[in-house]
Amino acid sequence: MSLREELERIFGGVVADVAAHAGDMTENAPRTPAFVVEATRAEQVGELLRIASAHGVPVTPKVTGLNIGGLAIPAEGGIVLDLRRLDAVEIDPHNMVAWIGPGVSWQKLKEESARHGLALGFPLAPPESSVLACALMDGLSTMALAHGSYNDWVHGVEAYLADGTKVVTGAAALSGRPLSRGPLPDLTGMFLNWYGGTGVVVRLALALWPRRAFRRREVVACRDIESGIALMRAGARTGLFDDLGGLGWPAAKWAFGLERLGARDPAEPELYVVADYGADTKDELKLKEKRLRKLAPTPPIPVEQLIALAPDLAPFAELPARLGFLMDHEGQGLTWVGTFGPMERLEEGARAGMRVVEGAGHPPLAVVRPMKGGHYAVLRFIMRFDRRDEDETARVRALVAELGAALLDLGYVPYKCPETLYEESARRLDPGFRGLMERLKRAVDPKGILNPDRWRLPER
Ligand SMILES: Cc1cc2nc3c(=O)[nH]c(=O)nc-3n(C[C@H](O)[C@H](O)[C@H](O)COP(=O)(O)OP(=O)(O)OC[C@H]3O[C@@H](n4cnc5c(N)ncnc54)[C@H](O)[C@@H]3O)c2cc1C
Repeated sequence: MSLREELERIFGGVVADVAAHAGDMTENAPRTPAFVVEATRAEQVGELLRIASAHGVPVTPKVTGLNIGGLAIPAEGGIVLDLRRLDAVEIDPHNMVAWIGPGVSWQKLKEESARHGLALGFPLAPPESSVLACALMDGLSTMALAHGSYNDWVHGVEAYLADGTKVVTGAAALSGRPLSRGPLPDLTGMFLNWYGGTGVVVRLALALWPRRAFRRREVVACRDIESGIALMRAGARTGLFDDLGGLGWPAAKWAFGLERLGARDPAEPELYVVADYGADTKDELKLKEKRLRKLAPTPPIPVEQLIALAPDLAPFAELPARLGFLMDHEGQGLTWVGTFGPMERLEEGARAGMRVVEGAGHPPLAVVRPMKGGHYAVLRFIMRFDRRDEDETARVRALVAELGAALLDLGYVPYKCPETLYEESARRLDPGFRGLMERLKRAVDPKGILNPDRWRLPER
């Protein structure tokens, strides 16, 4: 049987429009797959991988492809495995954990969790994008200060390896119940931050959290990056807030619909810190409100008040939301370099990154935030560009490489790592760690068919 016939047998047909899956919003070069298939049952994933291994044809799992790192761009001539229709949710309210399929969107999980009095935090990503894919990629949310990045929320996975073997990880491997990552050896990590390079996850157990009676989102305008970081650093240690995230001044201007941004007016705030917190009683809420006001350099403004003054900011009030200023601008190119790194070098890292971004002629949109109670920080720079313009796209590619290297120099490690940064990362990786990555990859994917352009480290 030809590969096409095998695919038609497993999936009942193939998707005609392969070009739609060649590229994404980023500066990364598109590659055209030979086939696109849509899974409707998890077992089809195992069957596909077994056959693709036999034919030596690469497979790239994909949900909506909105990862902003080029991570779901397929191998040239490979197969895209569209997982949007595997969207089952199964919630265990007693232990506050959900089994979710790859196609479960932020909007869907929000609604399902609310039915059980549970909640989760959200990225700034569109409502239809995948929770599971974000959790596999160490994404961040409006609860990241309290509960860490999404990797910390993962209690186990059910995945298929390249030969079609199904594996379950976490406590569920022994009990069937995904209540914790341990106490077995933590093989869940094999599937995190590999971008589908070690297996395709068909179910992931994600921690949920109690839904609070009261929620507040408030914005603090900070004169400069330094005063914003001081607020977040102090606030992180109080343990009172779900999230404290700083967004650079260009975000506010873009959100107001301004297209061409000149230099910042010195009177204008440089960083906006968004504080998210919840409470079960009015007294608890008051305490948190008071503490934020004591720490903040200017009075916090509740987001509802801000929206009454500036309706353009409405999407910030209720997540998940489609942030048009990032997705729907002319040219529609969007990219970022995001990193995890040391709290004490945040000011230095933010200034260094902003210099590189401004030097390349882009507004310096920095995202600065403490994570997991202040154990580490996130530093990210977001760039919009016109992806119809090849020269501009090539310049953005060079900018991503320069920015990544500058942040690596300061001890900041890229997450959702784009191809552009593999070479620089490989040069700096602990050689034993790199060798272990290579051995693990060969062990679970001997034919190298699983999303092979991810973590393709250069020859030594
Ligand atoms: C405007 C905008 C703002 C955003 N803001 C944030 C933010 O604040 N924080 C944040 O963390 N993220 C953010 N994101 C990214 C977004 O959250 C994630 O990209 C998204 O939730 C992941 O879903 P996806 O459908 O885009 O995944 P895809 O892009 O389809 O997949 C992501 C990666 O996972 C792999 N993959 C997919 N499914 C599987 C599977 N079943 N098994 C193994 N590997 C798989 C893919 O091959 C790819 O490498 C933002 C994105 C946009 C467009």
